[in-house]
Amino acid sequence: MESGGRNKEFRSIWLLLAGFGVSAAVVLMLCFSFAAGLPDTVGRPLTAEEAKEVTERNSSLTAYIYLSPNADFPREKEIRKITIHHMAGDFSLEELGETFSRRDRRASSNYAIDGDGRVALYVEESNRAWTSGSRDNDNQAVTVEVANDEMGGDWHVGDNTYAALIELCTDICLRNGIEELQYTGDAEGNLTIHKMFTGDTECPGPYLESKMEEIAREVNSNLR
Ligand SMILES: [Zn+2]
Repeated sequence: MESGGRNKEFRSIWLLLAGFGVSAAVVLMLCFSFAAGLPDTVGRPLTAEEAKEVTERNSSLTAYIYLSPNADFPREKEIRKITIHHMAGDFSLEELGETFSRRDRRASSNYAIDGDGRVALYVEESNRAWTSGSRDNDNQAVTVEVANDEMGGDWHVGDNTYAALIELCTDICLRNGIEELQYTGDAEGNLTIHKMFTGDTECPGPYLESKMEEIAREVNSNLR
């Protein structure tokens, strides 16, 4: 009786251990397949050579690169739109890169422009960034986060940042065959803003929103 009881005890311990083993293997496999789907350039600093190659495939205005895992590789549709966002703050490109590198944030953008007008790349143009709360928009759009020099209020944007935005949008259009930017005030145009897609954001703020037609005009005059 006693030894039979002990056998049973051993058996349940072995079953328990086997159970742990199987769950651990499943978790490892899931992690592996998850990670295997990501390019090996995400979530780490790039070598100078890698950075050069990545820049050649994207905007030459790029001054900082930290590629985010929060993206679809590759995007599902051809690029035909640009979507403007604001940072709701004046973050450094490094700070934003750190935020976008965290998988639990589930957020990213293709580009960002800081308060000095420096440009960062977080998601290569060939991939869909998770920025606008609209899969359909972001599959067609290159998304840009713009730094503010005013917190709250109109969420104003500084002159250097604004000038870099015009330059970056011009460059995106030129390289992707977008002949003209049109701001229609809704998602039909090819210059879109975040708040068109979700009711719970003011992004990109009143200042940038008031500038959208001007941005389209300035970019279009550069394209002519
Ligand atoms: Zn936004």
